[in-house]
Amino acid sequence: MALVSILQGKKVAVMGLGKSGTSAARVLMESGAIVLAWDDKPEARAAGQAAGLSIVDPAGADLSDLRLVVWSPGIPHTHPHPHPFAERVRRLGIPLVCDIDLLAMAAPAARFVGITGTNGKSTTTTLAGHIFQAGGRLTATGGNLGTPALDLPAFDSEGTYVLELSSYQLELLDRAGFDIAVLLNVTPDHLGRHGGMQGYVAAKAGLFGRMRPGGVAVISVDDEPSRGIREHLRRTDDAFVVPISVERQVPGGVSAVEGILVDDCDGLAMAIIDLRTLPRLPGRHNWQNACAAYAAARAAGIAAETICDGLRSYPGLAHRQELVAVVDGVAYVNDSKATNADAVEKALLCYDNVYWILGGQSKEGGITSLVPLFPRIRQAFLIGQAAEEFAATLEGKVAFAHCQTLEAAVAQARAQALADGRAGAVVLLSPACASWDQFASFEHRGDSFRRLVSALPGVRRNA
Ligand code: ADP
Repeated sequence: MALVSILQGKKVAVMGLGKSGTSAARVLMESGAIVLAWDDKPEARAAGQAAGLSIVDPAGADLSDLRLVVWSPGIPHTHPHPHPFAERVRRLGIPLVCDIDLLAMAAPAARFVGITGTNGKSTTTTLAGHIFQAGGRLTATGGNLGTPALDLPAFDSEGTYVLELSSYQLELLDRAGFDIAVLLNVTPDHLGRHGGMQGYVAAKAGLFGRMRPGGVAVISVDDEPSRGIREHLRRTDDAFVVPISVERQVPGGVSAVEGILVDDCDGLAMAIIDLRTLPRLPGRHNWQNACAAYAAARAAGIAAETICDGLRSYPGLAHRQELVAVVDGVAYVNDSKATNADAVEKALLCYDNVYWILGGQSKEGGITSLVPLFPRIRQAFLIGQAAEEFAATLEGKVAFAHCQTLEAAVAQARAQALADGRAGAVVLLSPACASWDQFASFEHRGDSFRRLVSALPGVRRNA
């Protein structure tokens, strides 16, 4: 754990006592800061108190010598409505920061890699972290994903933090600086929190306003907003930009048209690796993630062969097209994280003979946008609340069965795949739904799928 000794004896407020806020408050206390902890929710305050935090309502507190407010990214502060405490501290000129800033204050000599984008952040962050480790670098991975920033180990100049950054965190950054910053893609998301698309794009672009001298920016050129950010950087800054693309070869950058990763960073357009041979990184969306991780590792001076070893040995991330097992020639893939049609589309594009398990609590638009991909589906197996709605979309286009439970769906999908005997059959849990009607979380749903598959006769794990 990194201590923020620079704040010893200083008064700091922590707003929001979720996972990252509680971790920040605890570390600040251990660093000798005077911590005023608060959460608007009484349950969170009670939990904070039980954890030994000093709970103080900032609305009534004397803020005259307050240095910083560590704001939990999940709490809206500007949009859709300004938060009164955020307004008050801003008027007083006190900075709002997030836990990433505290990590930067705690470990100023360490190297920082920041990764953002609408989709693919967790995959790219874990992949880049894995490659840095394969390259012998002392590395810690966390941030928006997994371990909160302040629970990561303390590093000096020998260490590298590879951090997933959400748009909410980016909006708050005030102190952190990045040696390598990665933008994967930008599509509309979280617009309510950012006051519209312009605010969302500005939050993502903000990462590149926080580059350290000599820093390298890795930016996709496959979508309009990301291209705009790259153009702006080119015009206004001398930040070194490495473009990435899965649509075309990019001069001076890294591309993966048709899955062949080409490195043109030195102008040599070297074909490096065929990404189609990597079962843990299926699909074009993962080629984008691989290009980004490759470019970040190259920028850190890791050799191409070492990066390829890392790409090959990457174990994949649970619940995202996770290959659980191949049993009797049928692959079982856990894509429980796919809670909307966009995410399911990425998975369906990867397979031709799909036995599709879907359902739960449906999202706006349901699965209608997936109709063009229905020819890839041999049969659908419906679970949860959305069954009737999805059956109406599938009717007349794809055979389907009402299974109610995941257990019944796995059994029926297996039986159908075996009866059909098609090569490359995939039983795919990619639900296009939230899990709350039957499970505690998407992780719980994915773990249940994994357990059911592990119990199948003749199972061979992670084949
Ligand atoms: P995030 O952390 O940004 O939510 P993840 O790496 O957890 O992203 O991936 C979540 C889902 O997003 C995946 O299951 C896949 O459907 C989709 N996805 C992953 N990478 C990309 C990408 N580069 N572009 C578009 N969609 C992606």
